[in-house]
Amino acid sequence: MTTTAAAPYTFWLAGRPAAGAESFEVTNPWDGSLVARVGVPSRAQVEEAVAAAAAVQREFAATPAHVRASALDHVAKRLAERAEEIARLITAENGKPVKWSRAEVGRAVSVFRWAAEEARRFNGGQAQRLDTDPGGVGRLALTRRFGRGPVLGIAPFNFPLNLVAHKVAPAIAVGAPIILKPAPATPLSALVLGEILAEAGGLPAGAWSVLPVPNDEMPALVQDPRLPVISFTGSDTVGHAIRDSVPRKHVTLELGGNAAAVVLADWSSERDLEWASTRIATFANYQGGQSCISVQRVIADASVYDALVEKVVAKVRAQVTGDPADDATDVGPLVNEAAAERVAHWVDDAVAKGAKLLTGGERDGAGYAPTVLADLPDDAILARAEAFGPVLSLHRVNGADEAFAAVNDSRYGLQTGVFTHDIQLAFRAHRELEVGGVIIGDAPSYRADQMPYGGVKDSGTGREGVKYAMEDYTYERVLVLTGL
Ligand code: NAD
Repeated sequence: MTTTAAAPYTFWLAGRPAAGAESFEVTNPWDGSLVARVGVPSRAQVEEAVAAAAAVQREFAATPAHVRASALDHVAKRLAERAEEIARLITAENGKPVKWSRAEVGRAVSVFRWAAEEARRFNGGQAQRLDTDPGGVGRLALTRRFGRGPVLGIAPFNFPLNLVAHKVAPAIAVGAPIILKPAPATPLSALVLGEILAEAGGLPAGAWSVLPVPNDEMPALVQDPRLPVISFTGSDTVGHAIRDSVPRKHVTLELGGNAAAVVLADWSSERDLEWASTRIATFANYQGGQSCISVQRVIADASVYDALVEKVVAKVRAQVTGDPADDATDVGPLVNEAAAERVAHWVDDAVAKGAKLLTGGERDGAGYAPTVLADLPDDAILARAEAFGPVLSLHRVNGADEAFAAVNDSRYGLQTGVFTHDIQLAFRAHRELEVGGVIIGDAPSYRADQMPYGGVKDSGTGREGVKYAMEDYTYERVLVLTGL
């Protein structure tokens, strides 16, 4: 391991472990206990990592695909072998119930497996005939993708391993050096990933670093011209500030949302409502609501509303809250007490303005009870903001027109779930909803790691998903052959 109870975790500087002169604490959101101390990289160490990334760019891009793929396979294998240990670490640093931490490790394994596969088939390039115009006779165009340059990957706290995997694995797959900056509250699983990457071998020194750089040191790193690509996942406030500060860089933003689950009139049988209510209740609260695609809004047709609400509320009430290290726990604490205070303030604001509290509404330290609100007034903070907490609001509508308009009445647009059996309505939802993904027959929270994932409006720009991130880190360069 990279740490003992006394020694701070090392970080990863150009593929090697490095200690910081100073360190910071990572605490367990459940009981406030110290999980570990983590070294802080000095400015000189950050400079060394950036210089190494810039210097290794050509060499890394030229590393054979089979070498990069083997390294990625190794990571997938070792993550799977160490799954339980890493899941427990995620739970300790983040507070998410261990069953969801296990699911997260499984997802990260799949990201590295996909990246290994994509590394093997990426960049075959294509040939294009040019003799369709007289000036192109005797010419041929070949295209291949080349790296845009070293990547600065910035990750949030809510999936401390899998969203790091979504930045690191595609970078290795295309041979792009990456400097990964984990979230300050949850750096430990990313640092263990560094340990596994270091054993992988085959990757040149400088190809990757994992640096827990303090937030106030980040603007300098963001500005550094040797890092022309920024892949950011986090809040829209920070993401937009980054993009505005470096308008000429290639910036991908995976930001927040207030995802809706739409239940249309035809989704009305007992079985239908049982499934929809189970999925809605689960994915409203599955990480204390701290997922960018957790269900925040239920938009249900009036004909199914009452029956659905009864089931949703019963299921939310039945959720087991408590110690996230227990297998039985469904909902653990939020990432810290300040987050729970913010949610409490927003629920109180909604209730003061006329919302009906159907269940929940209580805070205990960093814990917030799973909460369901009906009749949320338009001027409530929660009607517009990303809750990022275990809070669901219920909205009654008449027909698909009203339902889809309600979904689109948001500054966010990440994913929407639409419960319908009607294929016409499914295609209409796909055409009309202003989001990055429409999930038919399930909650908006479904994500497979190979599919394109990202938002529109304030939910971001660009797409992740292994192949899409690989495309994002590279660009197509054409080679024209003349005289053929
Ligand atoms: P955050 O914006 O507070 O932090 C994200 C990262 O940015 C952290 O590593 C943080 O240390 C870093 N950061 C903070 N200030 C910075 C600065 N000035 N310059 C550069 N980096 C800086 O977000 P968070 O609270 O960690 O995560 C929650 C947010 O992430 C939510 O809004 C959620 O919806 C969003 N999110 C989006 C997706 C997605 O794929 N769309 C996935 C998960 C989370």
